[in-house]
Amino acid sequence: MEAHELRNKYGPETLRARLAAEGFPRTTLSFYRYVRLADPAALRNELYAEWEALGVFGRIYLANEGINAQLSVPTHHFEAFRKAIDARPEFSGVPFKIAVEDDGQSFLKLTLKVRHKLVADGLKDEVFDPSDVGEHLEADRFNQLLEQGATVVDLRNNYECLIGHFEGALLPEAETFRGAVEEMLEKLEDKKEEPVLLYCTGGIRCEKASAWFRHHGFKQVGQLHGGIIDYARQVRAKGLPSRYKGQNFVFDGRLAERITDDVVSTCFQCGQPSDRITNCQQHTCNMLLVQCESCAATYADCCTPSCREIHLLPDEVQRAWRKGRPSASSRMKAIRDPEALRARIREEEELLAAGGSLHPELTKLIQQTR
Ligand SMILES: [Zn+2]
Ligand SMILES: [Zn+2]
Repeated sequence: MEAHELRNKYGPETLRARLAAEGFPRTTLSFYRYVRLADPAALRNELYAEWEALGVFGRIYLANEGINAQLSVPTHHFEAFRKAIDARPEFSGVPFKIAVEDDGQSFLKLTLKVRHKLVADGLKDEVFDPSDVGEHLEADRFNQLLEQGATVVDLRNNYECLIGHFEGALLPEAETFRGAVEEMLEKLEDKKEEPVLLYCTGGIRCEKASAWFRHHGFKQVGQLHGGIIDYARQVRAKGLPSRYKGQNFVFDGRLAERITDDVVSTCFQCGQPSDRITNCQQHTCNMLLVQCESCAATYADCCTPSCREIHLLPDEVQRAWRKGRPSASSRMKAIRDPEALRARIREEEELLAAGGSLHPELTKLIQQTR
């Protein structure tokens, strides 16, 4: 196959229909390994051909420093996929983290990308030793240290720790990994002699962060081996108490997987307990928010009355309205300030009640598209 053919050629609707029509279960899993890859671009094309033949979907990053993969495999091809991985010396024996809650809808297509680094961590590898990592801790040991009062540090971004986290963990306010690491280093300035436990989604971010912490003089750095994903699996397999409460934010179509029934967050719109994480369905907004079922009905799955007004228009009017407007990637604003979102909603509802439109420009547009 020519290299230019080694990518997906279909739009999201076609892909969703294709997935729905498959008629077989998929297993969602992730893995990573820091390993020297001489020619990631060539490897990328080999892997694409090999995995596409097995029906693998997912998002995979390759770099000179290794691989970071999140994917779904048709369950009947799982063994073949495991064999294909183990047949490559650079990946042989790499532990798979299997998702605990899986509707098979995690990915719609296969994307393999070559990047400069596996995680956009912003850390300068040349000023510290990235291989001088913290101690890898399994779930039972992590629980034990936590119960003994060790400081637990969440190294994910603010929106990831919103709907679930370890009991008593320090949660970053930063929106980026680099920001979270710097924020925590500062907060823990006086804990350099004490045990500090780091965790993230699948463990890959802690590989770098633990070495960075050690570089900054922390003597007892532990990291959750395999991250929250594997912690959840171990907890179930070994019947341990889950010190992680709520849901685990994941980077695929599921958005989250439930670890325990605890609800640790509140709806951004009404303030009631909820951990239903979603995106505003108005395409140019896409704001990430926690929204309860009742508010989802009230606001038609949107963040504000303003987005609702657009979202409820006929498709062709929405398309005309969108013309020339940038489609936003996930906006995060509401997370930092849910109160500001509520204030904006109140203002907009008042305007609407007074008989106004939130989008005066629509009147003309609706006439034109008639
Ligand atoms: Zn609500
Ligand atoms: Zn919106």
